[in-house]
Order: sequence, then C-alpha cells, then structure tokens
Amino acid sequence: MKLVLVGADHEVTGSCHYLEVGDKHILVDYGMQQGIEVFERAPLPVAEAMIDYVFLTHAHVDHSGLLPLLYAHGFRGQIFTTDASADLCSIMLRDCAHIQMMESEWKKRKAKRGSDIPTQEPLYNMEDADGVVKRIVSCHYDQIIDVCENVKIRFTDIGHLLGSASIEVWLSENGTEKKIVFSGDIGNKNQPLLKDPIPTREADFVVMESTYGDRLHGAAQGDYVEELTGILKETFDRGGNVVIPSFAVGRTQELLYFLRKIKVGRLV
Ligand SMILES: [Zn+2]
Repeated sequence: MKLVLVGADHEVTGSCHYLEVGDKHILVDYGMQQGIEVFERAPLPVAEAMIDYVFLTHAHVDHSGLLPLLYAHGFRGQIFTTDASADLCSIMLRDCAHIQMMESEWKKRKAKRGSDIPTQEPLYNMEDADGVVKRIVSCHYDQIIDVCENVKIRFTDIGHLLGSASIEVWLSENGTEKKIVFSGDIGNKNQPLLKDPIPTREADFVVMESTYGDRLHGAAQGDYVEELTGILKETFDRGGNVVIPSFAVGRTQELLYFLRKIKVGRLV
C-alpha cells in the first residue's frame, strides 16, 4: 500500500493524490494548477496510461481540470464521482477544453501580427474532454461501492459544492485493511442550496483540506440579500445596469439563488 502526495500540498490548487494497492494504481482528484505555480507539483509516480481508477471529490477545476490530459496521455480506466459532480464535469471539462483551444488560437493570431506573446498549444482538446467524460461512473452518496477486489469507497456529502464529497477508501492488501479518508474541500454550515457537511467518524489516515488554516468561519454572516438588494435598488433608481462578473461554479449558483429570492420577495 502506498500514498503519494502529488499536488496541492504546499498550496491550494492542483489537488492530486496517488494510491497504490496490489497491482492497482489510483488517483484521488487530478486538478489544474490555477494562478502562479509557486511550488512545482511532484510528477505522477506511474505513467498516465497505467492509472486504473480516479476518485473525484468534486467538480471544481482545481480538482478535476487535468482529467482530459490524463485521457490524452492514454488513461482508459474509470472515474468514480457523485451524480451531480458527473453532470457538472460533463459541462466544465468541455468548457475547459474550449477555453484552452480559444486561448491558443488567439495567441497564434497575435503572434502572426507580430506580438511577442508566446504561442502555446492547448493542454488538451475537445476530443480528450469528450473521451474522459465517457469514463465517469456516477455514484450516489452514502453507498459502499466495490471498485475492485481490494478497493471499496463511499462518498459522503461535504457541503462545499453541488455533488461535493469526502471519500472514504478501504484498501486491502495481504490480509490487512486500512481506511483512508480524503476530505475534499469542506463546506460551511447553513449555506444556501447545500446541505451541511457530514463528518466522517473513523479512519486510519485522513488527508484533509486546510485552505483556511486556523481561521474560524463561525462568525455571524452578513445579510447578503439585504446588501445585494440595496446595491440593485440604488443602481436601478439611477437608471443604471448592474454587471456582475461571475466565474466560479458554486458562487454563481449562490448569486442566482439570491437574485431569485429578491425577485420573488419583490424587494427591488
Ligand atoms: Zn472546491
């Protein structure tokens, strides 16, 4: 049995962990690095084509964004994730491929016109995204899934994003069983649209997200609806338009939820 920390272990994006049990090679998440890469991620311990399974905690790109690259490099195994994460990945991984192809084209066009912006091939293309999405196995929360003879998993709702999960992994080798829990990104309590995170009670080892270090999230939350209503009202009264840049899955859904709440309540 082996656990290797591959990515997001000094920083907060590019999450990836590698497990080995018997002759099986497993990844937990395979996320894209976002922003400046401060710490170089460790290489995968085996070639991509040798990976048998991926267990995906949730659809955010810093946890899932390199899955099409895995496919481009020969991975043809299975990706286990929750139903909602599977739905989101189907949209988001294709969107990632689209963005990369567009950016690459844009840089090539600029270079032709004499710009010194370096050209860049996309990491992967739409075929890779389509191919990897077909490898996804949708799973329900709270059910023990026999992945293969020596590996069992269970997804628990962790309240971070629709479909987000902690993954309990039971590995057996030479008559010994160990349980490793991958927390995934952990949500807060009392969030709109999401259930409260469910704690996992026991484990031999825990690999846990610690993005916020020792900061406490318990403090009273601002009244988003009231604040947003005020901004909208003030702008509309002046005859203006409100432009909201939104890019993060989860945050955008939250915002739409609040806007609907305001509309239904006819607060504006
Ligand atoms: Zn996340």
